[in-house]
Amino acid sequence: MSTRTASAELADLPRKPGGVPVTVAFGDGIGPEIMRASLKILLEAGADIAIEPIEIGERVYLAGNTAGIGPEAWESLRRTKVFYKAPITTPQGGGYKSLNVTVRKMLGLFANVRPCVAYHPFVATKHPGMDVVIVRENEEDLYAGIEHRQTDEVYQCLKLISRPGCEKIVRYAFEYARAHGRRKVTCFTKDNIMKLTDGLFHKVFDEIARDYPDIENEHWIVDIGAAKLADTPQAFDVIVMPNLYGDILSDVAAQIAGSVGLAPSANIGEHCAMFEAIHGSAPRRAGQDVANPSGLLLAGVMMLIHIGQPEVAQRVHNAWLATIEDGIHTYDIFEEGVSKRKVGTKAFAEAVIERLGRTPTTLRPVAYAAAGKPFAVPQARPTVPAKKELVGIDVFVHATKTADELAREMQAAASDLFALVMITNRGVRVWPEGLPETFCTDHWRCRYLALPGKQFNKAMVVELLKKLTEMGVDFVKTEHLFTFDGEPGYSLGQGQ
Ligand code: NAD
Repeated sequence: MSTRTASAELADLPRKPGGVPVTVAFGDGIGPEIMRASLKILLEAGADIAIEPIEIGERVYLAGNTAGIGPEAWESLRRTKVFYKAPITTPQGGGYKSLNVTVRKMLGLFANVRPCVAYHPFVATKHPGMDVVIVRENEEDLYAGIEHRQTDEVYQCLKLISRPGCEKIVRYAFEYARAHGRRKVTCFTKDNIMKLTDGLFHKVFDEIARDYPDIENEHWIVDIGAAKLADTPQAFDVIVMPNLYGDILSDVAAQIAGSVGLAPSANIGEHCAMFEAIHGSAPRRAGQDVANPSGLLLAGVMMLIHIGQPEVAQRVHNAWLATIEDGIHTYDIFEEGVSKRKVGTKAFAEAVIERLGRTPTTLRPVAYAAAGKPFAVPQARPTVPAKKELVGIDVFVHATKTADELAREMQAAASDLFALVMITNRGVRVWPEGLPETFCTDHWRCRYLALPGKQFNKAMVVELLKKLTEMGVDFVKTEHLFTFDGEPGYSLGQGQ
């Protein structure tokens, strides 16, 4: 943990009065060193920013705030709307919540953008031509953090995917591609298995792709897409995906491009944005002046573009490319025979500052100055309500008996309006006509549907649950079965 306060970190930076207010967190571990180095480069390059330091992370967690962020920090973030953040350390155990997840969700930062670029031949990489941007949905999916234990044996985590969430992230990916001269947007999902949730993401992707005829589009199932990405990243350009796949694959992409120490990320929302390196606080390297500030510096470049200072962003990025090209490398990317000089954090920053105004000769220079205004953050269209009809209910039961025994019991709770049609165990149909080979846990889903020509309603749900309670059935949750404009809003059991 750093012993200096956030304000003390500003002491020797070349600051000028005025500028665009930016909230800055110096973070933990290597955070303060790489943030000071990055800010020094940005300011020397002419960034017109007014730094507002805040305290977040380990010091705040250990003072008893389980979120790691206090009210003054929120006040600054909500006012400046721009957050430049060094990595922080989440203390082990003790119910501490992930600060990153909290900030992303509270500020509505729905898009996580991670450019993963190879710097061949100056940084070792398996994929010399790699230049992929991962656009990850940042708020939904399994990260809603809604988990329950329901029986002795079974735990669940809810995967929530919304249409507005899909629309915003997919449109963001296409807008990003257009603004950055990219030729193709690829979508990764697992909609062959998760037909409703990932199916929605894919469907929205196909709908929105039609608005961008100038940009190629394609969809891959995430498993084979991930294999292709690891093997032939040159096949991809911009890839958009739901939260969990994006979390995993953006680290893979950054690593195979060269080093996680080089990759930046931008977290973009309708109102606010946060910029950070993708790596953590590397506590073992802290205070030694060895860490690579590149990931955080390149996040600063993304921030300057975001706040409308593309000329400064371009100056910094090209000077950084020239430094990498000159073989001036920190230990993590240093390689005998390729690198020329091994430097620490401060000396690396000085080397970049010396090269401000230069462009690389072998690596491709960047050109942000001519790109014009940044594109507007997309919004979702208003949802058109469908005709929603209740047609049945899934009752989940905690029981240690056979499927046939359970079926006899659950059938007794049915009526002349609705019937038990199926029992599944972990999604596999075990009644009627189950297989003796299917392994069963103590967690059963019993599906009741309205009989042909009959209506189902919520009063019948209450009656059913009352009856089950009287019978001593240990039901642990229910899911309503709706149709939307006649389309079932629920999945079938495997084998159904
Ligand atoms: P880490 O990314 O901090 O470090 C892994 C290893 O990568 C380090 O040991 C180091 O050898 C190397 N490394 C990382 N960044 C480097 C850099 N800039 N220069 C040189 N080498 C670098 O991952 P970890 O060890 O799993 O996590 C440490 C802490 O960071 C944990 O408390 C974790 O919760 C936190 N973390 C924070 C963030 C964030 O704030 N955004 C992200 C990830 C992890």
